[in-house]
Amino acid sequence: IYILAIESSCDDTAAAVLQNGKMLSNIVARQDVHEQYGGVVPELASRAHQQNIVPVIDVALKKAGVEKSQLSAIAFTQGPGLMGSLLVGSSFAKSLAIALDVPLIAVNHMQAHILAHFIDEEGFDKPEFPFLAMTISGGHTQIVKVNNFFDMEVIGETTDDAVGEAFDKSAKILGLPYPGGPLVDKYAKEGNPKAFAFTKPKVPGLNFSFSGLKTQILYFVQKNVSENPDFIRDNMNDICASIQYTIINILIEKLKLAVKETGIKQVAIGGGVSANSGIRNTLKEAEKKHGWKTFIPKFEYTTDNAAMIGIVGYQKYLQQMFNDAAVASKARIEL
Ligand code: ATP
Ligand code: FE
Repeated sequence: IYILAIESSCDDTAAAVLQNGKMLSNIVARQDVHEQYGGVVPELASRAHQQNIVPVIDVALKKAGVEKSQLSAIAFTQGPGLMGSLLVGSSFAKSLAIALDVPLIAVNHMQAHILAHFIDEEGFDKPEFPFLAMTISGGHTQIVKVNNFFDMEVIGETTDDAVGEAFDKSAKILGLPYPGGPLVDKYAKEGNPKAFAFTKPKVPGLNFSFSGLKTQILYFVQKNVSENPDFIRDNMNDICASIQYTIINILIEKLKLAVKETGIKQVAIGGGVSANSGIRNTLKEAEKKHGWKTFIPKFEYTTDNAAMIGIVGYQKYLQQMFNDAAVASKARIEL
């Protein structure tokens, strides 16, 4: 079974080809037009998708060595995401499915971040149901009890900013370009995580809050810069390490509580922030420290990609969960 998958929910245009759940190609065209604006400009994102989608799909098919006539189904991201971006991918997927007379499969982007763990990869185990998944991305921060492929319960989530936003907004305060998350990670590697102390928000249960932390960092930086104009430059590594340490502590504390409350010790992470080296190391350590079995996605399946859309497409194909061409893109969808 060959699935062509298309992902265009935000600012990356991506296409992948999977054969029976194994990735044959996974192509991402990043859009750097947004860098100068310090965030994604929706209108520019949909225009860039429009330019990129045909070549990206061509390259994905060529790299996989698969002809269009061999495809079993077309999977695409239905949402959540930016409407103008989603529409480019869905229109293309619909047209191609009609032209090739193959099934069309609509995929929830957040389910895909979780189910990326089911892509066949040498050296990577697949979780068994039920397991806990923490989705940490640019738009979401959730703890999910995953009972089956399409039976998921959100048991905790952010009440304000997503953790990816916390990284990106902190980076912006430090004068770093968008998206700043990977840069904070890079500088943090050279810094002392205990150089500066930030207080963690007090949020009951399994929910999160990150907007207070952002404000705290802003005031901290402003105060120090007023005393030493070179404060950021002189302390970049330590500031980034301290911010990252605080964020990881917030995440891991909630995960521990989720394991305690559910009794489930299989813990997976997914979404762009699961690329972060600090969270990856901390989760690995948790195997020995807390006796968890942890699932850390391969780096290329952390930030937005189409392979994760393809694996959901494959599972839906096996269960004959198809959509007709009237299926609508949605800026917001529940899990
Ligand atoms: P969503 O999946 O919620 O719809 P999205 O698709 O825009 O949002 P992703 O592509 O999954 O988000 O993740 C992007 C986020 O991941 C950005 O906020 C980015 O800064 C963050 N990120 C990527 N790499 C790292 C890293 N190494 N450390 C910290 N954050 C990172
Ligand atoms: Fe995403």
